[in-house]
Amino acid sequence: MQLYNSLSHKKEEFIPHTEGKASIYTCGPTVYHYAHIGNLRTYIMEDILEKYLRFTGLDVKRVMNITDVGHLTSDGDTGDDKMLNGARREHKTVMQIAKFYTEAFFNDCKKLNIKMPDVVEPATSCIDDFIKVISSLIEKGYAYEAGGNIYFDTSKLKKYYVFNDFREEDLAVGVREGVEEDGNKRNKADFVLWFTKSKFDSQELKWESPWGIGYPGWHIECSCISMKNLGEYLDIHCGGIDNAFPHHTNEIAQSEAYLGHEWCNYWFHVHHLNTNSGKMSKSKGEFLTVSLLEEKGYNPIVYRYFCLLSHYRKSLVFDWDNLNNAVTSYEKLIEKIVPLVSENSGETDSKAYEMLMKNFADALDNDLNTSLAVTAVYDVIKADTNAVTKLALIRKFDEVLGLDLIENAIKKANESENDTIPEEVLKLVEERQNARKEKNFTLADEIRSKITSLGYEVRETRQGTEIKKI
Ligand code: AMP
Ligand code: ZN
Repeated sequence: MQLYNSLSHKKEEFIPHTEGKASIYTCGPTVYHYAHIGNLRTYIMEDILEKYLRFTGLDVKRVMNITDVGHLTSDGDTGDDKMLNGARREHKTVMQIAKFYTEAFFNDCKKLNIKMPDVVEPATSCIDDFIKVISSLIEKGYAYEAGGNIYFDTSKLKKYYVFNDFREEDLAVGVREGVEEDGNKRNKADFVLWFTKSKFDSQELKWESPWGIGYPGWHIECSCISMKNLGEYLDIHCGGIDNAFPHHTNEIAQSEAYLGHEWCNYWFHVHHLNTNSGKMSKSKGEFLTVSLLEEKGYNPIVYRYFCLLSHYRKSLVFDWDNLNNAVTSYEKLIEKIVPLVSENSGETDSKAYEMLMKNFADALDNDLNTSLAVTAVYDVIKADTNAVTKLALIRKFDEVLGLDLIENAIKKANESENDTIPEEVLKLVEERQNARKEKNFTLADEIRSKITSLGYEVRETRQGTEIKKI
């Protein structure tokens, strides 16, 4: 498989560190609010990557953290802890907020057919691991204490800006505007590994450490949780493109300093979901969630389909027209699969199967081209082969695509079967209505029993009489 690697800025053949296996680390959500559909775009595309690697026969282990401490509003070392802001907003404790939004996140994932990672670790349960790695970085001379905090010394590295070519002069006060300068830092790019003194007043969760009571920086979480669960060599690290700097840059700095060798071979970054007014973000407060889509009558799977129609390395603009187009296209696709589900007999045409399977694999082998993989489903539908072969292929593709293609086609087929209610039943329903009009309820009940014995249910609703197959 060819995968674009943000480190080398080109597509590369994916070769796992251990043959037959693949280790994946994913930056998990910061659980101070609901995940928005932008965050979920990233998790959908990562899910496709994981499932495709499994599809190719690799034994995949995927680890995700839950950020419940240390992620400050600036993404760097300034501002409040996002978790604390969430707790204040809702007049709850940080741990209550974390529990609530972690569950909400996994509920959303379930609705979008995003598989649960093999390991999920909240940062607050790994404090000892962070202290171990930070202590070792101090010992090795990569970290120092200043003003009570522990900082990583970026001047000790040959190359710090691994993803891009930021210049130190550009970082007058960190990378973001309006960020105050931290006089404790020896170099402008240095970052905090452990906050002790500088962030004391408001922080709710604090732990004992060799450097005094405090709490970890956000970046150290991911390095430690990955190394703890996936060892010294990581195959793929994933995240949204905004994580490349400073988060992933700092992860690489501290992990490689700690390990003494290269750590992760492939960096997979998903580009943003934007609205017409810019990047969708939690901090702006106005964002779309899966529940909101559902309230508006959308099946969450259609949002997954919408995401698959674009390449993960292109930013994607969300608006309702685009989503509605995806709804129409998804429904058409399902309708095309409906005739196949009722015609499922015969033998698999192995020649056609292999050819169409290759078509699908070629699309995903080319840096996860999901829109071409969806086109491969259309190619199957149009192909000159039997329904059994087509269904087998679509079922297999959907292990990766996760679009509920067969389930929804079966549902649709049953609905249309329900639509054709036998004459006999329709006649009885009419007789029952007449009996009700004449207030002959005994007769109406007798007719209802007859209708039930024929396998149908009749109900009076505000919209009129409803007849359903039992
Ligand atoms: P957070 O919960 O803020 O830590 O973000 C969770 C994941 O969503 C990270 O991988 C981010 O890089 C990613 N992300 C944040 N905003 C967007 C967006 N608008 N589009 C796609 N991914 C995003
Ligand atoms: Zn991370």
